[in-house]
Amino acid sequence: MRKLSAHYIFTGTGVVLNKGIIIVNEEGIVTKIIDTKGQFEEQSGVEFYSGAIVPGFVNAHCHLELSHLHSIFPEKTGLPGFLKNVVANRNHEEPIVLEAARKADFELWHNGIVAVGDISNTASTFALKSKSKIKYHTFIEVLGFSPLRAQRAFEWAEICLAEARSLGIPASIVPHAPYSISKELFALVSKSAEDNHSILSIHSQECSAEDDLYQTGDGELARHLTENLSMDISFFEPTGKNALESVIDWLPEQNKLLLVHNVCTVQKDIDLLRLVRDMGKTWFVLCPNSNLYIDKQLPDIALFSKNGLKICLGTDSLSSNWKLSILEEMKTIHRFFPEIHFGEMVTWATLNGAEALEMDSWAGSIEVGKKPGLNLITGLDLNSLQLLPQSKVKRLIN
Ligand SMILES: [Zn+2]
Repeated sequence: MRKLSAHYIFTGTGVVLNKGIIIVNEEGIVTKIIDTKGQFEEQSGVEFYSGAIVPGFVNAHCHLELSHLHSIFPEKTGLPGFLKNVVANRNHEEPIVLEAARKADFELWHNGIVAVGDISNTASTFALKSKSKIKYHTFIEVLGFSPLRAQRAFEWAEICLAEARSLGIPASIVPHAPYSISKELFALVSKSAEDNHSILSIHSQECSAEDDLYQTGDGELARHLTENLSMDISFFEPTGKNALESVIDWLPEQNKLLLVHNVCTVQKDIDLLRLVRDMGKTWFVLCPNSNLYIDKQLPDIALFSKNGLKICLGTDSLSSNWKLSILEEMKTIHRFFPEIHFGEMVTWATLNGAEALEMDSWAGSIEVGKKPGLNLITGLDLNSLQLLPQSKVKRLIN
């Protein structure tokens, strides 16, 4: 049994305790929380830390499989340029892919992350994930803009899903993005999601070229498809609507949905989502450092906060980020949106992600009966309760 205290405890549920005490048993399960109301007196057996204790972080969007591409791509190429680099460089020998994924898994753990929503296009990292200290939900991602590829792409995903099940790792089949999936492939994924009540995730509104493709059939992503992937896209009929409007009805509304990136999302899109979806089952995953790496643009995070949306945080992959650290994502949000409180971001970084990945029975918040892992954040401004560039995360309880 351990008793831990700090200047502040952010439980992840929105509750903040001033010098509260958390008691955890040998297994790391929270057995008691004492609200001292700031009247903490030194007592034997209580470990007191300078800083804030928060639950273990949940990274709602990563691609372990792309970890070997760290520091390879130039920054700020824009999404079409980034995709061109991924297509040209992603295939490496499996030992190289696996060694980089293993290091990335360690980096995630070291940075206080207990659960990850991880995109996989193959089964190469499944064995690693099945043995990791981190709990993963694997999103088996399908791609195929040509309708002719739909059946084959989906069959490959089903093979990967069977492999995941054989290893006992939670997984679901998901679409990559509106610009890489045909209506036919969307239909196969949606049917599978409905049948399995599974969690859906899609890269959404990452750049304005997605809208150009759906509105006019032209633009940088159309050129990526025809020039980099040598596709004939003459079959494609523009909808005259933006990408989100064009595909949202193809995603079953009763399934949980993680919309990833949302860089171009505006109020009109949020209003549309409110009309067509249950917002209690819709999460907005923000990966700000990846957005800065690829295109030096950020979503209007203050708008999402003002709308009371369910926000989660993700690191994306090491091919488009400098680190795999949720704390670094929070620092970036603080730098560009100083009006957003640290406590609000803690909920985004913990409980919201745990709920989205269906891991909230044990993770995401400091509550009796849960085993969320405990992180200490040091180097925080304890007066304003804001992150500083030198803020660090340290695991207190695994
Ligand atoms: Zn991604």
